[in-house]
Amino acid sequence: MHPISKKLSELRKQIAHSAQKAGREPSSIKLVAASKFQSIENIKAAYEAGQRIFGENYAQELREKAEQLPKDIEWHMIGNVQRRNFKHLLPHCACLESLDSLELAETIEKRSPQPFTAFLQINIGDESSKSGLSHADTLSFVTQLKAFPKIKVLGLMCIPPFSEDPEDSRPYFAQLRELRDEINVTALLPQPMTELSMGMSHDFAVAIEEGATVVRIGSAIFPPRAQGVL
Ligand SMILES: *Cc1c(COP(=O)(O)O)cnc(C)c1O
Repeated sequence: MHPISKKLSELRKQIAHSAQKAGREPSSIKLVAASKFQSIENIKAAYEAGQRIFGENYAQELREKAEQLPKDIEWHMIGNVQRRNFKHLLPHCACLESLDSLELAETIEKRSPQPFTAFLQINIGDESSKSGLSHADTLSFVTQLKAFPKIKVLGLMCIPPFSEDPEDSRPYFAQLRELRDEINVTALLPQPMTELSMGMSHDFAVAIEEGATVVRIGSAIFPPRAQGVL
């Protein structure tokens, strides 16, 4: 068995276990394989093991990989996008998980020929090193999305402050869930948001307990890669 295939099947078991522990259906949790800097070969190994959703951090890298890999892969953009790079995401990207600026929203509205699926990235720990909307700005941002009818906001995404102890992520995950529920109560969006993209290799179990519907996992699937090596 390919080592990636082995890690994936182990991970799927852990996801199912966490879901059951939280009284949730395992099928209600989507696994995004975070494949930044991973070779085509490694992504193919995950694909052959049944993985269909992959997340990339750089628009150009997403495009290059999408062009070489099977067309039934669902590509998510999970990294920061400069508006000038948005063109690389079309037509490959099924979901932008990191929408956090009106400039980018404007570009999507202008360039996307059809409805475009997005999550709002929230800087849940208010860290200056991280992108994302601040908790305080989120409601006003959502209000302004009315001007961009092509953008379909399905949910929220966050990367909490890093800590070795996954329990430290729990209050941030709970805050993201509460923020989603607050926004849904305002009915500012045409449809309520259902998704929460939260949890990575070290803290996905806690994220699932707090309501994650999408977990983005890299190092628990793939071998370590040197930065910037394709
Ligand atoms: C790399 C990355 C992940 C996956 O992180 P791991 O710790 O490798 O599981 C998740 N989300 C984002 C935005 C990432 O850049």
